[in-house]
Amino acid sequence: MEREKLITLDHVSKHFHVGKGQTLVAVNDISLDIYKGETLGIVGESGCGKSTLGRVVMGIYEATKGTITFEGKKLDLRRAKDKMEYARKAQIVFQDPYASLNPRMLVGSIIAEGMEIHNMYDREKRQERVYELLETVGLNREHANRFPHEFSGGQRQRIGIARALAVEPEFIVCDEPISALDVSIQSQIINLLKDLQKDHGFTYMFIAHDLNIVKYISDRIAVMYLGNLVELADSEEIYAHTLHPYSQALLASVPIPDPDREAGKKTVVLKGDVPSPINPKPGCPFAGRCPHAMEKCRTESPQLKEVRPNHFAACHLEME
Ligand code: SF4
Repeated sequence: MEREKLITLDHVSKHFHVGKGQTLVAVNDISLDIYKGETLGIVGESGCGKSTLGRVVMGIYEATKGTITFEGKKLDLRRAKDKMEYARKAQIVFQDPYASLNPRMLVGSIIAEGMEIHNMYDREKRQERVYELLETVGLNREHANRFPHEFSGGQRQRIGIARALAVEPEFIVCDEPISALDVSIQSQIINLLKDLQKDHGFTYMFIAHDLNIVKYISDRIAVMYLGNLVELADSEEIYAHTLHPYSQALLASVPIPDPDREAGKKTVVLKGDVPSPINPKPGCPFAGRCPHAMEKCRTESPQLKEVRPNHFAACHLEME
């Protein structure tokens, strides 16, 4: 069955000028589709540009190059009407549930704020929705009259999720939503996100560095390295047939509770640090750490190509 595209990124880059004529290339020439109702996991080491990509897709950062199409229409976030409409349809749940909630606002007001901004419902209906949303995320209506500091980390993340849901979005960027939480709470939040997706058909971009979590929640996975998209495939496929040397190294460094996978696992070990994204060198971004690097890798940037059905990788090696 043909999947319906919700968002298309076409050659999207994000650069930051960092002084002295230097440019930090946080996101480099990324093209991909996000399909309606799916969870696209974005993984990579810290500093690989995955959160910046999430913010570009959200319209929090303007892309330096490239275009973003949402529901078939090219986004122009300089137009106030488009920006407002997109700000409702696309929501974000942040990593840090401590920093992302205004400590001086009551929880009910935090959740209602988006509905007020977007002029949704009358005051009474908004209040009713606040109560419903609190219950939807596993809290209760009495919590509306408390301040964020009265809650645990997991509860605050539930409040952050209720705030995102309040404006009836279609697309939610989950930016490492569980990395600041205790392990015992993480699976509760993941299950909540999965249940909400089942009930409401949300489309997620789920950003994380924990590959086990990403596998559990994602339909497809995109691997990023130094601002570049290096591999993209269905979740099962990418774990069963990992193609890119960087993805192999990333997966090899994660203990996987699967004896079959463990036995056949490639043993590439990541050496050295991620190079600086400031004024990046030509060629493959992974060349300095790749055990298979060839002369060509230092001069020519590998393009993302379809190596297996719906499985894309950017590497000069001959692959299957
Ligand atoms: Fe390694 Fe070359 Fe492939 Fe880059 S293009 S991942 S350096 S083999």
